[in-house]
Amino acid sequence: MKICDRTIKIIKKEEEKCIGCNICMKGCPMLDKFCNSPKNLLKELLDNERFEYTLPYSCMLCGYCTKVCPKEVDLKSLFLDMRRDVVKENNGKLPKELNISGVELHQNLSFSKLFTSDIQNLQSDTIFFPGCGLLSYSPKIVENTYEYLRSKIDGIGIYTKCCGKPTAFMGKDEKFREYYSILEREFKDKNVKRIITGCQNCFMTIGNNSKDIEVISLWEVLANVGIPDGRKGIGKTIELEFTIHDPCPTRDVDIIHSSIRNIVDDLGFKLEEMKYNKGRTLCCGSGGMVSVTQSKIANSHTRRRAQEAKTEYIITYCQECVESMRRGGKKSYHILDLLFNEDFQHMEQKNQGLVIKWVNRYRGKNMGK
Ligand code: SF4
Ligand code: SF4
Ligand code: SF4
Repeated sequence: MKICDRTIKIIKKEEEKCIGCNICMKGCPMLDKFCNSPKNLLKELLDNERFEYTLPYSCMLCGYCTKVCPKEVDLKSLFLDMRRDVVKENNGKLPKELNISGVELHQNLSFSKLFTSDIQNLQSDTIFFPGCGLLSYSPKIVENTYEYLRSKIDGIGIYTKCCGKPTAFMGKDEKFREYYSILEREFKDKNVKRIITGCQNCFMTIGNNSKDIEVISLWEVLANVGIPDGRKGIGKTIELEFTIHDPCPTRDVDIIHSSIRNIVDDLGFKLEEMKYNKGRTLCCGSGGMVSVTQSKIANSHTRRRAQEAKTEYIITYCQECVESMRRGGKKSYHILDLLFNEDFQHMEQKNQGLVIKWVNRYRGKNMGK
């Protein structure tokens, strides 16, 4: 596809900044499939003024490269811009070979009345926004989490919609704005001033798009109010060793990294750290919908990331990451399993199928009614 003038300017700017040190390539899941150095890749794009769809849709939009880059070259934003160009070129659609009809259907249903409700149970200016992924993973732990929040925060409501991030990450900006306006209207109508998010992507998406609302992660809240009394110190009598995997969307949010570690400490479990952790964490392989658009790249990276953990079990705080770590050959739990599922040790380690996930969404939609 021909590169438009606006994107050429961005590539030129990034190419000038890049010194070809290749530090970013060590943790990046995809650059080595396209080049021996980002400097050369950017030069080639400038010389040819063309690119293949597969390039931007192989980037997991994880931000690792910029985090470690001495020159702050922003490949994530460049590849996201290139995705937007692909959508524009195709009149708002995406080429069939990218295989994203399932993501479009997911997004459509994630804003439908069949699977979601308006804000429920609100008697204050604060809501819990668990995120659609967490609801499809387990309505039970979402319900238990919400009940616990209600005991700590008077009048907190719950909202079971999606944040629209998959649509934004596919490069479909216009469609994303259309979806996000549904949330904006609801926040305004119900006078929402504070949102507690259970998903790292929701935290970023709502934080970036609703600047007049205070967005706090559930982990910071739980670290502040304390974990349920009955869960304190449970790790001291359970013989499990965990490694922690930090999800990539919130790599720049230090308070989330420390809150999670405080919660695990209160639970009484000892944690191993991965070589790439906190701000320098690596994507689990599910970022940027690459598991759909370029599944081979995603699968091999998922395996690499899971195997970085020396223990058999991994704890993380994103349901996508839980599933990726299992696909990568490890056993894994969401931190909410440890906090709000007394029977977590007997949970199946097999990922749930699509039908069950939608049944879960359906069950979770009226939570709080
Ligand atoms: S780390 Fe930055 S400067 Fe070094 S090769 Fe990667 S993008 Fe270029
Ligand atoms: S955002 Fe992640 S996947 Fe994309 S180029 Fe940077 S490190 Fe690689
Ligand atoms: S970020 Fe993912 S899990 Fe969270 S609401 Fe959006 S699509 Fe759902």
